[in-house]
Amino acid sequence: MKRMATPGVLRLLESLADGTVEEFSPVINEDGEVSYPDVDRHLDVNDRDSYSVLESLAQREILYREFREKAYVCPECGRDGMMYTTVCAECGSQNTVEQELYKHVECGCLAPKNQFQVGEGEYVCPDCQLTVRPEQMDVLHRHVCQTCGESGAGSVGALRCRECLSVCEPQKAIEWVLYSYGFEQYGRQWLTTQLSARQALVEMLDDRGFTVEVDAYIRDDSNETPVHLYGEEDLLGDRVVGAVHERPNQQDVERLHMAATPVDARTILVSTSGTVTEQAEELAQTHDIGLLSYQQDGTLAREYTTATRAEGSSSMLKRLTSSVRRQLN
Ligand SMILES: [Zn+2]
Ligand SMILES: [Zn+2]
Ligand SMILES: [Zn+2]
Repeated sequence: MKRMATPGVLRLLESLADGTVEEFSPVINEDGEVSYPDVDRHLDVNDRDSYSVLESLAQREILYREFREKAYVCPECGRDGMMYTTVCAECGSQNTVEQELYKHVECGCLAPKNQFQVGEGEYVCPDCQLTVRPEQMDVLHRHVCQTCGESGAGSVGALRCRECLSVCEPQKAIEWVLYSYGFEQYGRQWLTTQLSARQALVEMLDDRGFTVEVDAYIRDDSNETPVHLYGEEDLLGDRVVGAVHERPNQQDVERLHMAATPVDARTILVSTSGTVTEQAEELAQTHDIGLLSYQQDGTLAREYTTATRAEGSSSMLKRLTSSVRRQLN
């Protein structure tokens, strides 16, 4: 189930919008995993991990996703930045040096020139002991292992950790594909709409004598729940918790209800698309949540549309066969 515009998600998008962050860029953290510090700092404990949040925003075309690089993490110590190296295919030593070798074509013996050469222009095969002429030999360039002396097996590619210096086969390193995320044009508009709708709700409550805090936390004994806004009215001791979502679903309704329960607050849910899912509407009625829709002219209205299909995605809009317009109160 999607959790789109949690307070944390709005905060991180605001940091992009106001230029605090140009792009959300990945780093490999202490555990050898990809993280996005500029995202993590805005998310609350009940948000999903930064990568999942960014991916879902990219799927919604609020953010673009751009390939940055591949990172190889050491399987021994979890650090990033392994270096390419070559090792002896026989013993794994990195100490292999490319050398010029002579090969006696007839018997196949392969050895450095100095083992063939017995005098000026005179060569004897160190293996079969026959005198050989230069044209009976091939000159080859091979990696020769200085540790085990092996030259036939050659050398193979490997990765070496800069931190712990361990060497591993490339396929044993942990490969991460790293992406950066930034605003799509649509994303800026989307954020503006969400924030404007939230502000409209603030002003509506303000007019009714509420002291309103946006990006607030509702605290009870065991936990704190982030909410889009919280208002208190001193005269009657009235409290209200508000949430803003593009297309409120069942989970948005449930979360709002759960957040408001500890402080016995009334609840208002704003849909910025003017639509709520059918299940969300039912549940909102059960929990006595006021549903409002944010209008093109920047006002909040009590009328909204109920989507007959629940699961939200862009394809859902196409599957939306009928909708009911309701008038509340
Ligand atoms: Zn070797
Ligand atoms: Zn020979
Ligand atoms: Zn390492």
